[in-house]
Amino acid sequence: MEKLKASLLTTALKPDPVLNNVPRQVPDAAYSLVEPIIFKNREIIHVTLEVAKYLGFTEEYLELEEFKKMVTGGWVDSKNPSFAMNYGGHQFGQWAGQLGDGRAINIGQIEIDDASQQLQLKGAGPTPYSRRGDGYAVLRSSIREHLCSEAMHHLGIPTTRSLSLALTGEQVMRDAFYDGNAAYEKGAVVCRVAPSFLRFGNFQLPSANGNDSLLRQITDFTIKHHFPQIKSEGKEKYLEFFKEVSESTLELMIHWQRVGFVHGVMNTDNMSILGLTIDYGPYGWIDDYDPDWTPNTTDNQHKRYRYSAQPEIGLWNLWQLANALFSLIDDSKPLEAILNDYKTQFVKKHLEMMRCKLGLTVPHDSDVDIIADLMELLPKVEVDMTLFFRELARLNSTINDADAFEILSVAFYDLDNLSINESKEWQDWISVYIIRLKQESAYAIKRVELMNSTNPKYVLRNYMAQLIINDAEKGDYTLLEQIHEMLKDPYKEQPNNDKWYAKRPDWARNKPGSSQLSCSS
Ligand code: AMP
Ligand code: MG
Repeated sequence: MEKLKASLLTTALKPDPVLNNVPRQVPDAAYSLVEPIIFKNREIIHVTLEVAKYLGFTEEYLELEEFKKMVTGGWVDSKNPSFAMNYGGHQFGQWAGQLGDGRAINIGQIEIDDASQQLQLKGAGPTPYSRRGDGYAVLRSSIREHLCSEAMHHLGIPTTRSLSLALTGEQVMRDAFYDGNAAYEKGAVVCRVAPSFLRFGNFQLPSANGNDSLLRQITDFTIKHHFPQIKSEGKEKYLEFFKEVSESTLELMIHWQRVGFVHGVMNTDNMSILGLTIDYGPYGWIDDYDPDWTPNTTDNQHKRYRYSAQPEIGLWNLWQLANALFSLIDDSKPLEAILNDYKTQFVKKHLEMMRCKLGLTVPHDSDVDIIADLMELLPKVEVDMTLFFRELARLNSTINDADAFEILSVAFYDLDNLSINESKEWQDWISVYIIRLKQESAYAIKRVELMNSTNPKYVLRNYMAQLIINDAEKGDYTLLEQIHEMLKDPYKEQPNNDKWYAKRPDWARNKPGSSQLSCSS
């Protein structure tokens, strides 16, 4: 395995000197050396060929035992120590102290041109950060991570990627619905790939422990390797770093809102320092447009991480990062200015994004109202977000109101029960929109292209992931492969996949796993 090199982190920073996996506090180190479990009956189920190729693996290599060892655990190399990272985090708004990679093990990095990609196994056994967990992952949650990271990438959304999905050949006990019915499930390992897996929590923990020198080391390391464009020194350097993190976090939030993705657990330990979507747990996609929806059953009471709150939570999380970096900067004013800028930029970028979704290529004063009216109207009755925006591109400036409504009607979950008032409100909005399109008539083709590259046709709805899981648990991976393939081109018309361009079926409305999920994984 010549490609896999020691991770930059292990070459730059000293590890925790204790070498065992007993759950414990690690106050003064950024990571601990850990070896993955060697699963005797491991079996690779699926490889993302595109990622494999990007990493420089030939198709022949993917068949070798060496590759299997690498992506399932078992590749041990003293020059290349594997490790689990130490980080803390705010969980559901409360400081939770040390968390760390409880079941993720970094196995090294691969250099590609002048970039490097870290490889990380999720579910390959316990670490000092496993706390009360077992260090393993089950097939259902691993399928969800494997597929969704690829779906996000192809939607053009920054994300960690997934090289492979494998069965460990061992059973793992889980209480999937948190209802006291624990049962054995198949264990699995995903090999994740990203330039860095550092999270806000990696900076928060040394700061909370009052270890300024470790905080400075980690921050300097991050800037040197992942933000090489930052050339300034001292305070300025750290401020520029924070500004970049703030900007990439905002970009990510705009992307999630655009496609209707709800992360579900936006704790600060699940916030990537590179603005990537990371840690796919009880995430979900909006079916009917409901700003209050969260896919996470644990969050049902307060709905902290509901769809509409994500941009605000992104900002709240950045406040926590700012607090963590404060001792390096020692001046709150410029940090606050960056955080305030997030708010003004959000308004601007959200409007731009919505203009793209509606195909309003030439900005007009009335756009703000058209968008606000639509956002108010959408949640009043159940309207499918993906279908609605995709179909909207089929309207044009000469269509009559009735035909327009007919086109959009496929997105309504319960058209028959629309009240006269609701119907009128929709008719009114559609008329205003059609009149607005007259100002776009010179750009009709551009408008449709813009809308169809902003509004995906195919997304990984929860019920689809659940159907894939049901089959995979029986050893049938056909659907997994089909949907993986389909999600590679989410904006393109794929007539063969018409059946996946549809509203969530009724049976999936309130079915656990298909509507909402617990954090059990
Ligand atoms: P999450 O918010 O789901 O990303 O995870 C929160 C924390 O719990 C992280 O520190 C994870 O590493 C840890 N964790 C989750 N599941 C397990 C598990 N099965 N074994 C050990 N640690 C886990
Ligand atoms: Mg996590």
